[in-house]
Amino acid sequence: MLKHMKSKQDCPFQKLFPSQLEKDANFYMQHAYNQSINAWEADEVPVGAIVVFEEQIIASAYNQTRLQKDPSAHAEMIAISQASRFIGDWRLNECKLFVTKEPCPMCAGATLISRIGEVHFALEDPKMGGLGGAISLHEMPQSNHKPQVFSGTLALECKILFQSFFQLKRLANT
Ligand SMILES: [Zn+2]
Repeated sequence: MLKHMKSKQDCPFQKLFPSQLEKDANFYMQHAYNQSINAWEADEVPVGAIVVFEEQIIASAYNQTRLQKDPSAHAEMIAISQASRFIGDWRLNECKLFVTKEPCPMCAGATLISRIGEVHFALEDPKMGGLGGAISLHEMPQSNHKPQVFSGTLALECKILFQSFFQLKRLANT
């Protein structure tokens, strides 16, 4: 086995074309899904996130922990920072976060700290999820802010994409 063999995989999945007709959770999650494809193409764990304010997408990001060599560069963290710059305030009460996988405890914490109004995630994460999967940070009784949490939109598509990424990585490394 060649040690230096390139293990980067081209993403075999296509981007979606969200219909503008109905700006519902599905519409926004499709945009987040497209960000997760950008992540894959950059050889990052394929998670994408967007932030919506008054039906407008004000932030779009994908995981960049490898690119930036920064463990805090998760899609949600980058999107929340972008949204705060757009709004001009650290408080994001009127905003909604859409992300393709359940936020980890760091990102779930950031949704509380930023007072984001709603969090929608596709794929649940029983191992590291911070919004019900492994722990429930949004239900801490003393917390000043509890975002409304919704899950399941586009879950299957995001699950297939996420799992395929790791399967192909494993195959490439055997
Ligand atoms: Zn995270």
